[in-house]
Amino acid sequence: MSQALELRKRLLLPIALGILAAAGAVVAGYYLLAQHDLDEAFERKVEQGQVALHAMLDERGKRLALSADAVLNDRQLMADMLARDRHALLQHIKPLFDHLRAAQQITHLYIYNNDQTVFLRAHQPEAYDDLITRATLSSAVNMRQTAIGVELGTLGDLTLRTVTPWFDGKNVIGYVEIGQEISPLIGELKRVFGLDAFAAINKNLITRANFDTGRQILGRENRWNSDGSVVVIHQTMPSTPSVVTQALETGKVTTPRISLTAANGKHHFHLGLIPIEDASAELVGHVALLEDVTRGVTDIVNHVRVVGMTAGALALLLIVALSNVVRRAERSIAQALDEQQAEQNKKDRARLKTIEDLEANALYDRVSTLPNRVLFLDRIAHQINAAQREKQTFAVVIVEITNHKALIDTLGERLLDQLLQQIAFRLKEGLRKSDTTARYTEDQFAAVLPAVSLEIAVSVAQKLVNLFSNSFAVENVTVEVRATQGWALFPYHGQDIDTLLRRADTARRSAAQHHNEFEVYDSRKESAREQQLQLLAGLQRAIAHDELQLHYFPRVDMRSRKINGVEALLRWRHSEQGSIPPDELIPMAENTGLIRQLTAWVANRALRQQAQWRNAGMDLSLSINLSSVNLLDGNFAAQLRQLFAKWGTQPNTVSFEISERTLTSSPKKIGDAIKQLHALGCPVAIDDVGAGNSSMPYLKTLPVAEIKLDTSIIYTLPDNQNNVSFVRSAIQLAHGLGIGVVAEGVKNKAIWEMLDSLGCDMAQGYHICQPITSGAFECWLVNSKYGMDKRGLVCAVRIESE
Ligand code: C2E
Ligand code: CA
Ligand code: CA
Repeated sequence: MSQALELRKRLLLPIALGILAAAGAVVAGYYLLAQHDLDEAFERKVEQGQVALHAMLDERGKRLALSADAVLNDRQLMADMLARDRHALLQHIKPLFDHLRAAQQITHLYIYNNDQTVFLRAHQPEAYDDLITRATLSSAVNMRQTAIGVELGTLGDLTLRTVTPWFDGKNVIGYVEIGQEISPLIGELKRVFGLDAFAAINKNLITRANFDTGRQILGRENRWNSDGSVVVIHQTMPSTPSVVTQALETGKVTTPRISLTAANGKHHFHLGLIPIEDASAELVGHVALLEDVTRGVTDIVNHVRVVGMTAGALALLLIVALSNVVRRAERSIAQALDEQQAEQNKKDRARLKTIEDLEANALYDRVSTLPNRVLFLDRIAHQINAAQREKQTFAVVIVEITNHKALIDTLGERLLDQLLQQIAFRLKEGLRKSDTTARYTEDQFAAVLPAVSLEIAVSVAQKLVNLFSNSFAVENVTVEVRATQGWALFPYHGQDIDTLLRRADTARRSAAQHHNEFEVYDSRKESAREQQLQLLAGLQRAIAHDELQLHYFPRVDMRSRKINGVEALLRWRHSEQGSIPPDELIPMAENTGLIRQLTAWVANRALRQQAQWRNAGMDLSLSINLSSVNLLDGNFAAQLRQLFAKWGTQPNTVSFEISERTLTSSPKKIGDAIKQLHALGCPVAIDDVGAGNSSMPYLKTLPVAEIKLDTSIIYTLPDNQNNVSFVRSAIQLAHGLGIGVVAEGVKNKAIWEMLDSLGCDMAQGYHICQPITSGAFECWLVNSKYGMDKRGLVCAVRIESE
């Protein structure tokens, strides 16, 4: 809008002023031109008037001269003159004079003597004999011919006079002068040219007395004005305006245009002057000419008015048109600007919307509209900062919908979304405004609760339990939602996001495991498990990346003192934690089911090694340890068969060791598994005998090839008599059933000798050899006192036994 105003101000205003100025100029120009024309016309008229006046005077003069001829040619008059008979002359001339006066407005008729004295005045017979020195007469006398000229008479009138010498044939007998007032001629100017005229003479050329007399004689009303240097002798107007008098006085026109108020209103006049000179070229007065230009002026004014109005109207039209153009331009500019602005706004809105959408998508869960994991993590980060600053605790809770999978199956995705929205709603209702509730994973919600102590956390957890205890209704379907919460508190359970969340999740898992609805993280429970979890992840990687190894634990036949076979023992050297003992690794693998893969790996690797040795001419029987999970795995036997086929293994060269603990924990199932292995053709050994519950009762009914007496028993030999008795009776019992006896943990000669004396069949232990790699085993065997067929064995390294 301001831009539009700016445009109008900057463009329209100057142009409008310009147009108005131009219109004004046109009007003023027209006015001046019209005035000039008017003035010029008048000047021409004055000039014409002057010419006309002179022409009239000339023509009148000639007429007067002709009239004079009537006197000069009259014999009677000449006779009277020659006779100097004044009386007779007057009588005879009187009718002629009267005639001329009536017909030609002759006012004077003089008869002069040769000496310029008046012989007779026909118009004033009583006055004669006075000397006349007028220029006209003098000129006629001198030139001896007719002289014509204007004369100022002594009575104050301007007259045109002709003086003609009167000849009697050859001699001049006198002079005849005929005169006429020129005032009527001046009146002619009005008639012919429409000009008012004023004739004035210089006062100093006459006397007042003569003037007044003259006025009386002529029957004029002009008054001798007391001041001023001129007196008006003739006028066509009733009175002489002062400006006219002034012009006549000074002989100059100062204001050519004058305004006069007459009875019929105001009139405008042009004023001009014609100087009047007498026959001797003396300036005797002036004739002032006035032209009534009221009409012209009015015309001009009217015209100017019309022109002005037209120009004004045109200007106005132009301004209006221009204003319209400008307004339209403004409008289109404004519109363009508006459109541009609207377009910009639209773009901005779209961009904002996009940003919002992106933000919402990036930070909020589409279904529940709760903050998503990303935003939740951010909120925790903020909370950590705030809590650190204000030295406060806060809580993090992870709520898992434990029956989520079942809910998907029963509700379908659409209804599940509705349910999730309701759950989100309940959670938000249950928590404070300052808490952040989020959708954490597909089946988990989470919340961060500022300024919450352990006691409050527990009470909130209980509140949430209550919330979930009420069923939900989704489109008339009643739905039970089971939820498990895991809680962790800052700073006790973690001081960074990852730790806090991991521990909340640990608590949640623990709760689920123990069928609790919630648990707060317990560091005592956790530390071992957490380590285990990490290990487990590592183990999976180790299997995948072949980081595992087998060590081989030789067993010696105590009778022949020959190597009878090797037990495959798992080794895992963790990249960070170093070697991890199988005692720790195996239970973990068992708990997670990873043991299947692990055993498969061990079996494959060991059978491969056995095949290699066999190919090298070393027939070594192989022992592989199994856990209960393997034995209960229905596929295990089939897997073994495949492996045997793969490596060309004779089943009777592979014995499987099953811990006594495993057997006694589930004798029936494990017994069946033992029978299966037996059916495969594989010997089965009961491991760790003596370490726990006795497996002896089962030995009678199960196809067991041998028992392995546990290290913990053997270690105590030969001093612990109880254990000596145990070993003795175990050997007797086994032998009685046709079962071989292996002693583990034969760590010294004394133990060996004791076992030897008790009739033990086989020995394993550090006294003989530690569990070692296949390569090391080969080397050891080459140099070992415990022999076997050494064909094809090559060893680059010599290893000292014991
Ligand atoms: P185990 O089957 O009873 O194996 C014997 C354990 O006793 C081995 O420990 C062995 O090194 C140790 N041992 C035997 N004689 C002596 C000795 O004279 N001195 C000393 N210091 N130790 C002796 P290792 O290798 O640590 O294995 C521990 C247990 O881990 C094994 O007990 C077995 O139950 C289990 N295990 C090892 N490898 C596997 C496997 O591949 N699968 C399964 N399921 N369990 C395995
Ligand atoms: Ca074993
Ligand atoms: Ca053992």
